[in-house]
Amino acid sequence: MINVLFAARPERWPLYETPLTEAFAEAGLQVHLATDIPAEMVDYIIYAPNSPLQDFTPYTRAKAVLNLWAGVEGIVNNPTLHIPLCRMVDMALTQGMVEWVTGHVLRHHLGMDAHILAQPGEWAPKAPPVAWDRKVTVLGLGELGTACAQSLARIGFDTHGWARSEKTVEGVTCHTDLSEALTGAGGVVLLLPDTPATTQIMNAGTFAKLAPGAFLLNPGRGPLIDDDALLDALNSGQLSHATLDTFRTEPLPQGHPFWHHAGITVTPHIASETRPKWSARTIADNIRRNESGAPLLHLVDRSRGY
Ligand code: NDP
Repeated sequence: MINVLFAARPERWPLYETPLTEAFAEAGLQVHLATDIPAEMVDYIIYAPNSPLQDFTPYTRAKAVLNLWAGVEGIVNNPTLHIPLCRMVDMALTQGMVEWVTGHVLRHHLGMDAHILAQPGEWAPKAPPVAWDRKVTVLGLGELGTACAQSLARIGFDTHGWARSEKTVEGVTCHTDLSEALTGAGGVVLLLPDTPATTQIMNAGTFAKLAPGAFLLNPGRGPLIDDDALLDALNSGQLSHATLDTFRTEPLPQGHPFWHHAGITVTPHIASETRPKWSARTIADNIRRNESGAPLLHLVDRSRGY
């Protein structure tokens, strides 16, 4: 019997209990899944940000922590954690992000707001450029960034991407030089993790490299952006619009200037959600692998922070 502790916040338990139970059965695993198992009996810990569990010291026989989220900034630096940490990668999470990014890129590229939000009653034809005349850059070419860049490339955008390591992605010009990636971009999508190296990667200097009137999407994490520089870039017209899904403080506080700025669309961290049915399969598969001696998938490199 494998003891699996569900240590995400209690309100998530009703959403996950049945999908996890079914996924463990499908994987042929005999699992005792519960929200309260004596710490010294726990084999695996299913985790999510804001969990009440912060001290991993008593979990002496646990073999891995399986994070329900793709981002791990809430746990990666926990000094009591000395066992492998896996993050969430699953088809539904990726598909959701591809849909959100593609939809918002097309909204800004086509200038759809002008007709959907305002009908001025005057015939003022202004056609958008075709996709291949717009450079769109995705910062971060991991699981999500690569899938989004491929979607944009398939539509025809002049798609560029940036990562730490060299990449080859069909239809996408890949960079390791940030300046090359951003210079002249008419749209930028942030799909980087929140680490010391990525904090405020979008700042006055990097906004200035973009094509005037560029748009920005941030489904990554709030600290990737210097908020004051963002407001300056919007107010000067260097940016035409920012659609923000992630923020330094979530929920975004009432009265925050982002709520009221005409050039900002706020979405409440819904770009892509971990779906219980699909994430349960990822978790069951990883436990099955580890129990049969195969390496765990989606391991976080604690030294890199993602
Ligand atoms: P991955 O870990 O698969 O990819 C991260 C990418 O960022 C990699 O390509 C990596 O480069 C690159 N990167 C990291 N640090 C640097 C750096 N210092 N310089 C250049 N490139 C860097 O993550 P995912 O694609 O799965 O997820 C990305 C982020 O999306 C998550 O961390 C999370 O914050 C966010 N997210 C948001 C959601 C939402 O609903 N808003 C939902 C899910 C995720 P390399 O490949 O070379 O290592």
